Amino acid sequence: MNDILPGQVARWQEMERVAREVFALYGYREVRTPAVEHYALFARGVGEMTDIVNKEMYVFEDKGEEKLALRPEGTAGTVRAYVEHGCHVEGLQKWYYLGPMFRRERPQKGRYRQFHQIGCEVLGAAQPAIDAEQIAMVDDLFARLGVRATLKLNSVGDPACRPAYLRDLKAYLNAHRDRLCGDCNERIERNPLRVLDCKVEPCQPVLREAPRLLDRLCAPCQEHFDAVKAGLDALGVAYVVDPRLVRGLDYYVRTAYEFTSDALGAQSAVAGGGRYDGLVEILGGPATPGIGFALGQERLALVMEALGREPLERRPVVFLVSADEAGAREALKRAAELRKAGIACDLDPRGGKLKSQFKQAERARARYALVLGGDEVASGKAKLKDMDTREETPVELDGLVGRLGRTP
Ligand code: AMP
Repeated sequence: MNDILPGQVARWQEMERVAREVFALYGYREVRTPAVEHYALFARGVGEMTDIVNKEMYVFEDKGEEKLALRPEGTAGTVRAYVEHGCHVEGLQKWYYLGPMFRRERPQKGRYRQFHQIGCEVLGAAQPAIDAEQIAMVDDLFARLGVRATLKLNSVGDPACRPAYLRDLKAYLNAHRDRLCGDCNERIERNPLRVLDCKVEPCQPVLREAPRLLDRLCAPCQEHFDAVKAGLDALGVAYVVDPRLVRGLDYYVRTAYEFTSDALGAQSAVAGGGRYDGLVEILGGPATPGIGFALGQERLALVMEALGREPLERRPVVFLVSADEAGAREALKRAAELRKAGIACDLDPRGGKLKSQFKQAERARARYALVLGGDEVASGKAKLKDMDTREETPVELDGLVGRLGRTP
């Protein structure tokens, strides 16, 4: 688990601000759900057989009540809220969320036990156009953040075409058990699709030759996949079809996608999503198609950092330096006036030597410094020092707001 210190927080604020702007442009509205839910929600909504629920979830007893868990992801809680409040009666819903998620994973770069996701869900539309729109929106978000990520796209079929494929896949994997790692072997029965996702090098030759669901899609799934690709082409979004990209749960159907970045090393996925037409029903709601994605904020921060993008931190426009007691009183008064006018300013409440106050102004990365003392108070005039060029220009104290209000 990490602290995000003030020096890094600007980056987080930037991604959240841009995400909110982009989501609003596409008609998504924010939902806030609790970080703690019933264990049973995730057992049903994520799947008891998944690593996330089985091994990684923080579960606890709440004094004899039902077992609770810290949420490991955002979709289950979002869909629970949708069902609990009967939101289907209001037609198609486009929602987004952001917040901390918890998984007891082995921590490493890009993998933490408390991490943060920004995610979106569309509930109530099965049409491929919404898949394309959502994927294009994530692409748009990355572009606006100045991040280049590769979009990988696949179809994981549906209950009509997947079972026959899974039988063949299991038979193939079983025939090559001895060339697959321990994790793969464990997953063959439990979750064979996830085996395809294995990144262990010695497994790769077997996995490369494995039967591909993409070659076995039923006609409606093929049609859906073709329409998603056509939609992305029409929107000018580039993608790579990756037949081994999976979402490992039964209720995921058809579209699966992921955005990856070279800047990340082993944990290269920045965002992942897919269609989950069975989930609302599993969680007690009416049959409702859905599609969503989640983006990892820690990973996005790492990518932005690797690209050398400076976080945009708001700097004080002016730092008020006081030369004596009269100056300190004036500084307090002028600071209030500037702030009321919406001009960011700061001062050193400890006073002290001019040099140390200037040092503080530099640390705060102020654009200007203004020294105030008895003389300045008496004359109503002071010198505004540009902290970059060191140039000084005279200003009237009463004209400060007007003069600094124009500062970009
Ligand atoms: P998932 O919910 O597993 O599909 O993950 C969606 C995104 O969340 C991933 O692409 C990552 O960017 C991020 N993510 C998942 N697990 C972690 C973790 N343990 N630490 C940091 N980011 C994570």
